[in-house]
Amino acid sequence: MKYQLHKESHIRRIKIGESIFDEGDQGDFAYIIEEGEVEIWTTVNDQRLVLNILGVGSMFGELALVDKQPRSASAIAKTDTILTLVTKEQVNRRVEEADPILRMLLLMVMRYFRSETNLFRGLKVNQSSNSFCLDKQKQTELSKGISGAVDLIRMESDLRTAMYQEQFKLFYQPIINLVTDKVEGFEALIRWQHPEKGLISPDLFIPLAESTSMIIPIGQWVILEGLRALQRIKEVSGQELYLSFNIASRQIEDSNFLKWLTVSVKKAHIHPHQIKLEILERTLFDNERTLSWVYNCHQRGFLVVLDDFGTGYSSLQYLNDCNLDTLKIDKSFVQKLDEKSNSKSIFQAILNLSKALGISVVAEGVETQKQLEILKEMNCSFGQGYFFAKPFPLNEAIAFLSSY
Ligand code: C2E
Ligand code: CA
Ligand code: CA
Repeated sequence: MKYQLHKESHIRRIKIGESIFDEGDQGDFAYIIEEGEVEIWTTVNDQRLVLNILGVGSMFGELALVDKQPRSASAIAKTDTILTLVTKEQVNRRVEEADPILRMLLLMVMRYFRSETNLFRGLKVNQSSNSFCLDKQKQTELSKGISGAVDLIRMESDLRTAMYQEQFKLFYQPIINLVTDKVEGFEALIRWQHPEKGLISPDLFIPLAESTSMIIPIGQWVILEGLRALQRIKEVSGQELYLSFNIASRQIEDSNFLKWLTVSVKKAHIHPHQIKLEILERTLFDNERTLSWVYNCHQRGFLVVLDDFGTGYSSLQYLNDCNLDTLKIDKSFVQKLDEKSNSKSIFQAILNLSKALGISVVAEGVETQKQLEILKEMNCSFGQGYFFAKPFPLNEAIAFLSSY
C-alpha cells in the first residue's frame, strides 16, 4: 500500500517520503497537487536522477493514462502532500470524445515526448545501447500518426475551401410512387466538384465532415440549396414535391438546427411537410436526444425517415416508439429480392408491419425491372434507384419530372 486513502476517495494524502507510483507501474490515475511537493525521478546508471519537482497546481502521471504505456518515471512525496485523483475514465472519455484530429495530435505529441525522454535517458545510460532509443517500429508509428493527422487536417481545410469556393453541388434522385407511377419527391445528395480530383462521392468526405464541425455549415448549405430547388420545381412544374435530406447526428445534437430549419423553410415559402429528414438507425440508438428530436420535428411539421433500414439493429420496436413517418429499406436488401433467399419474406413482413403502424416504405436501390415487379407484387408503395434515375443536377431532375 503506497498511500493512505482519504475518506473522500478522489483525494489522497501522502506522507513525506512515501512513493506515489514507481517506474514500470501501470497508470491508473493522474494527479493534481493540492498541497505539498512531488518529486519525479528515474534511475540512470544505477544513480537516482531527479527529473522534476512539482508544486501546488501541477498535474502529473497523465501520460500513462492516455497512451496506456507503463509509467516512465517514479513519483515520491517530497513533503506531506494532498493530491486530487484523476481517473482513467475521466481522461479517456474526454480524449475519445475529442475532435479526431486533436486526439491524434495529442497521442502523437505524447509518444514523441516519451521517445525523446527515453532517447535522452538511453544516451546517458549507455551510448551503444539502443534499449531506450526511438526504435524503428516507433519511428514508423510516429510518422504514420503524423501523416494521418496531416492528411486529416489537409482534407478538413480542403473542405473549408470547398465551402468558400462553392465546390459543392447538390444532386437530386427521384422517389417514385409505385402505384401511380409518379414522382413524389427527391432525395438531396451532395457531391464535391474538386478542381483537380473531379466529382467526389459523399461517402469519402461526409464521414470526415461529420467528425469535425464542418458538417454544420455543409448541412446548412445543403438545406438552403435544396429549398431553392423546391422553389424552382414549383415555378417550372407547379408541383409541391418533397425533398428528403440526410441529417448527420451532429446536426441532431445542434440545438439550433430545428429552429433554423423552421425559419429557413418559412422564408422560402415552402410547406414544412415538403421537408423530410433522413436519419440512420445507428443515430437513433447512439443518441438519447433523437426521440425528442423526432417529436420536435413533428411539432414543426417536418417528416422523419429512417434510412438504411436492414443494415443495423433493425429493431421493430423502435418503429413504434419513434413515430417515424417513413422507412427506407436499404439497397442491399432490395438487391437480394430477385435472388433465391429469405429476403422476400422478411421484406413482406416489414411491409405488413409498417402498414399496420401507418409508416410508408421506400425501397432504395431499385436497379432492375424484376426487382420492381417483385416490389409491386408485394404492394410496396415507393421506390428509388438507378432503374428509375440516377441522382442528377437540378436542371436534369426538372427535365426528368416533365418527361416521366
Ligand atoms: P444514402 O442516404 O443511403 O443515399 C443513397 C445512396 O445510394 C446514394 O449514394 C445514391 O446515389 C445511391 N443509389 C441510389 N440508387 C442506387 C441504386 O439503384 N444502386 C446503387 N448501388 N446505389 C444507388 P451517394 O449519393 O454516393 O451518397 C452516399 C451517402 O452519403 C448517402 O447514402 C448518405 O448517407 C450520404 N450523404 C449524401 N448526401 C448527404 C448530405 O447532404 N448530408 C449527409 N449527412 N449525408 C449525405
Ligand atoms: Ca438517405
Ligand atoms: Ca439509404
